Parts: sequence; structure tokens; C-alpha cells
Amino acid sequence: MVNPNKQSVNRKYPQDNRGISAAQALFWAKELLAQNGVETPLREAQDLLAHVLKWERVKLLAARELVLSPVVGRSFSALVRRRARREPLQYLLGEAEFCGRMFQVGPGVLIPRPETELLVAEALRCCQDQSVTRILDLGTGSGCLALTLARQYPDARVWGLDVSPRALKWARSNRRRFPEGHCRFVQGNAGRDFFPAGRNRFSLVVSNPPYIPQADLAALQPEVLREPRLALSGGKRGLKKIEVMLRAAGRCLAPGGAAVFEIGIHQAPEVVRMFSEMGFGDIHEIKDWNNIIRIVSGVKKQLV
Ligand code: GLN
Repeated sequence: MVNPNKQSVNRKYPQDNRGISAAQALFWAKELLAQNGVETPLREAQDLLAHVLKWERVKLLAARELVLSPVVGRSFSALVRRRARREPLQYLLGEAEFCGRMFQVGPGVLIPRPETELLVAEALRCCQDQSVTRILDLGTGSGCLALTLARQYPDARVWGLDVSPRALKWARSNRRRFPEGHCRFVQGNAGRDFFPAGRNRFSLVVSNPPYIPQADLAALQPEVLREPRLALSGGKRGLKKIEVMLRAAGRCLAPGGAAVFEIGIHQAPEVVRMFSEMGFGDIHEIKDWNNIIRIVSGVKKQLV
């Protein structure tokens, strides 16, 4: 891991009075990002410049000689320096893709990850033979899961629960962006007996809980450390919040309803045990693209 390098972050942007070309600016940015350990420096430099210009990135590829005004230069170089300090690219662009749509994100909310799209696919599989009337997303963050499921099940009522008011602001602004379906966001703690619409009534409960073990936090990429600790840290072994959320899922689900959870590396055996101890059957484990079991699902057998 390369940590941001103070000297190189301050490297001068090659400004002159008339402005410089897009190609010159991108070269400067690419070098700066590479020196600071950003893995795809050219691509990210292009993304940031396209964002400042409010252009599609492809349009930029055909505009090497475009002269960037000093105003554009200042905005671009400021964003590039922030990226060189390892702020997440998605925070700087203000959005991240999830299941084909761009969700608004920024400081205070977890950035949607591609792995979590597998959770959506598994939730759809679990629900293929049942009518879906109520859905609960525990620890909703940006609302990407709740709003994606609200689009899939336009007749269902969807609740997204989060303890963090900061995260809920992002969720609510995403709901304004994607108003289809019936989705509402509620502040609350899944561990404190919080049941937005009563016990035993949900068809589906999903969660991407914080699951990183305490000891692994320090070794995360600098970008991930800019994301809220609350959304990442799952206690000593990373299982604490999974257990709390799964217990809440067990109470909220109707018999025959499904719980679908995202989990961390090496956690599957313990999580599968939790599922079966809490009265779930038909337990499935889904691997991610790195061959790590990332999603566990189960169907609630009887009233608990
Ligand atoms: N998948 C995230 C990461 O690897 C963790 C998200 C979480 O704890 N739910 O950083």
C-alpha cells in the first residue's frame, strides 16, 4: 500500500495564463495519482476531468488539444489532489453505480460495492415463488439495496433502516432520484426491537451489515478508511452486527420469508450456524468473483 506522499500531492499544476491542454492536464494528474498509489490513474484522471467539464468521458478522448480555462484547471487540480490524498473517487464524483443506476454518495455513507449486487440476485431467487409484500433492508446506507428492490417489486412496501442520520440523508436523496415503488427510510437500531410494520410480516429481509473484524480495519485501503467506521466495523470477529441483524430478521420475517445477508471472508461457517440456530432452513451460500462466500440466505421455518 502506498500512502499519500505530501510532497508529490503538492506538485504544481502546469498552469499558464491562457490555460493548458487537456492532454497536458491529464498527464500531470496521471503522474500525481500514480505516485500516490492510485491503481488506475489515467482512467480516474479522465473521470475527474470529465466530471469538472460535465462531459461524458468518451468525449474527452477526442479532445486532447482542448484548452482548459484557468477556472477549470483550478477545479480539476483540486479534485486530483484530493484523490491523491486517497479520498474515494466516488465521493469526488458524487455517485456510484449499483445494479445499473447511479446512486448519490459522499462522506458519511458506504459506497455501494459490486459484491452487493450478488445479494440482489440471490434475493430475487429466494422470492421467485412467493408474493413479496414487505421488504426490510437493515443498515441501508445509501439505500441502494432498498431502492433496487423497490424497483423490482413495485407493489411491495420497502423499509430501509439505518442508525446513521448522515447515511439516511443520502438514502433519501437517492429516493428522490429513484421514486418508483414504495420505499421509506427510517432511523433506528435493528438491535433495539425496532419493527417498522410489526413482527412476522416481512417477505424478505436483506442486509449488508458491517462485518470487518476489528483487527483488520487498520489494513484496509486508505479509501475504505474514509468511509464510515459504523458501516464497516463488525466487532472483534466481524460477526457481532451480522448476529444482531439476523436476529431482527428472524423476528420480522413471516414463516416462509427469506433473509439474505452479505458477509466477510471466512465468516460463512459461523453465519450458516447462526442461520440454522435461529430457525432458518434452505440455507444457500453464494460465492463472489474472488471465490469467497459472500452471501448467505435462508428461509424462516417457523415462528421464533
Ligand atoms: N465490502 C466492504 C469492504 O470490503 C465491507 C462492507 C461491510 O462491512 N459491509 O470494504
